[in-house]
Amino acid sequence: MTLHEEVGDWLDSNWDPARPRQEWLAAVVDAGWAVPTWPAEWFGRGLSGADAVVVAEEFRRRGAPGSRQDVHNLWANTLLTYGTQPLKERLVRRLLIDDVTMCLLYSEPGAGSDLAAIQTRADCDGDEFVITGQKVWTSQAHRAEYGMLIARTDWDVPKHRGISFFFLPMRQPGIDVRGIKQITGETHFNEVFIDSARAPADHLLGDLNAGWRVLQTALAYERSVMGDVARGPRTIVKESLDGAANGEPQSQGVSGAEVDLAAVARAAGRSGEPAIRQAIAEVHSLRAVNRWNNLRAKAQLSQGSSSPILSLGKLAMSRILHRGAYVHSMILGAESMLVGTDHPDADAANFLALNAYFTSIGGGTDQIQRNIIGERVLGLPREPEVDRDVPFRDVKKATTTRG
Ligand SMILES: Cc1cc2nc3c(=O)[nH]c(=O)nc-3n(C[C@H](O)[C@H](O)[C@H](O)COP(=O)(O)OP(=O)(O)OC[C@H]3O[C@@H](n4cnc5c(N)ncnc54)[C@H](O)[C@@H]3O)c2cc1C
Repeated sequence: MTLHEEVGDWLDSNWDPARPRQEWLAAVVDAGWAVPTWPAEWFGRGLSGADAVVVAEEFRRRGAPGSRQDVHNLWANTLLTYGTQPLKERLVRRLLIDDVTMCLLYSEPGAGSDLAAIQTRADCDGDEFVITGQKVWTSQAHRAEYGMLIARTDWDVPKHRGISFFFLPMRQPGIDVRGIKQITGETHFNEVFIDSARAPADHLLGDLNAGWRVLQTALAYERSVMGDVARGPRTIVKESLDGAANGEPQSQGVSGAEVDLAAVARAAGRSGEPAIRQAIAEVHSLRAVNRWNNLRAKAQLSQGSSSPILSLGKLAMSRILHRGAYVHSMILGAESMLVGTDHPDADAANFLALNAYFTSIGGGTDQIQRNIIGERVLGLPREPEVDRDVPFRDVKKATTTRG
């Protein structure tokens, strides 16, 4: 029996779109299809990348979710790579069946693009770490059970070398989560004030003070997911995909993200206008090229090589979303300023124009993504960093030092 047949037979016997989501995910995990390239000890089958693509194809063909989390599940991949044995035993399966809501506690008021400038501190106290500081723009913090947190554990070494990476339990005294109202009128992200909160020592990922390395792995997963997906109009997709990183590949839920601009133009009676046709063709081309690039990147990854193309995806998606919203508004003209259910097309154009900033800022800005591509893909000289080798305690800071 070929792998295609094996997966197909399993899906034919088990897949039912009416099955409750978590129950279905549990079945996929237990069958080894959720993370096919992982070892059997961690719910995988030890398959090659190429075979895992076969698994994903069968799932996609039936519209069944839950497969290829070894590529898409930011939380589980980071935990599996760097977590302690007890933490993995407690959380890997729960993460794979989407039973744990997570958030990313990276950005601070004085550290966004330059995450190495964080000033949240973690001090070892017996078999725990005591954490104090402030995070901001934290998507889903109001719902999260754990946060992936970066905090400073050594103030006397240069900024990249004194950071550690934790799974912080969010539901405890000392964590105060306050919602931030967004330009779209929604509240999906938060300020998080942390005052002597505690993380058990086995919630440290990677070595003490080696959190920068863990962070790079986690950011790479996040950016690769963001290059694949985008959020649709609020009228099509009600719930947010903040961070686009919630484990499950979100593409099924966001198929509405690609607004059919030709249909909008026809409905508005403008599909014969050359300038409109040209603008629609441009967005169509950008979408197609990004789709092909993502497929090429995945093919390269599945053959075991790294893929520089992957780093283009997030930047490309940002451009597609801004340009798509612009053309949408161009077609509707002044009507695109209307909000509300009376004119769903206008509401969508309006919302998508505002929400395009989600991808061009969240998970690293377009400018930072260009720096990364310049330095790591094109091999251009590194951006000058005057404080790179200075002990963090002596670095000039945007806000008060707590060191
Ligand atoms: C929708 C959304 C969700 C988010 N979710 C989370 C989350 O869950 N967790 C979390 O920790 N954070 C989250 N963020 C925060 C996000 O990661 C930061 O906003 C982002 O990294 C930029 O940091 P900043 O806002 O401090 O801007 P800054 O770093 O202050 O940047 C300001 C401007 O300067 C530019 N700039 C800065 N440095 C350079 C440079 N070296 N070269 C060229 N240009 C530069 C930037 O591109 C930007 O235009 C989210 C943001 C958004 C929009």
